[in-house]
Amino acid sequence: MSGKTYIVEHLDEELGPWSELEYITIAKESQEAGARFCLSSLPAAFKVPERLTAIPAFHPTSQGVEEIYAADKSRVCLLDPAAKKDLSPEDGETFDVFLFGGILGDDPPRDRTSELRKKGFEGRRLGPVQMTTDTAVRVTRIVVEQKIPVADVPYLDYPELKFNEHESTQMPFRYVTGKDGKPIMPEGMVELIKKDADKAIDDLM
Ligand code: SAM
Repeated sequence: MSGKTYIVEHLDEELGPWSELEYITIAKESQEAGARFCLSSLPAAFKVPERLTAIPAFHPTSQGVEEIYAADKSRVCLLDPAAKKDLSPEDGETFDVFLFGGILGDDPPRDRTSELRKKGFEGRRLGPVQMTTDTAVRVTRIVVEQKIPVADVPYLDYPELKFNEHESTQMPFRYVTGKDGKPIMPEGMVELIKKDADKAIDDLM
């Protein structure tokens, strides 16, 4: 049991298919690690997909992170691309709750993490490159649970996904690589990206 809580404050209006795949991945990896994954600030009318509720480590709530941790804010570390200090293995002793923005990445980044920064949680950076939310949680877990420094995690920046001889797309994010040297992405994500790219081309025609 890691005893850690990974909390993603959902900041988008709806739960799009990209976020859903990211959240399923975070929930599965939290389950394997014996950690909790809390998805906070969900609108009351929000219907959480069954694929998520079926994972015991997953805890959805309409409460916001400020409300949940009102009495013990110092336990919470905000993963913030604009923080002055990088996350370190020792932060695993200081904090037991790690907070992330439930925002889809954008290029160039719009700094929506600032919405959480304003709430006054202590911030740590995961290096200088923007990551997807599931990657940010994965890297945090590697640093605070496996005690590997942020700079020593194996990464791949801006990978190109090749769909066939003629079609490819470049992802504007940093990913952790697996044993095969390929970027770790949620199951079904490559297919979804291809579908969205095909749709964008169709819309142009
Ligand atoms: N463009 C975004 C923004 O507006 O802030 C970044 C969103 S990122 C896809 C989602 C979340 O992952 C962020 O809110 C942050 O918690 C975490 N994250 C991603 N890259 C990070 C980094 N390099 N350092 C710290 N946290 C990061």
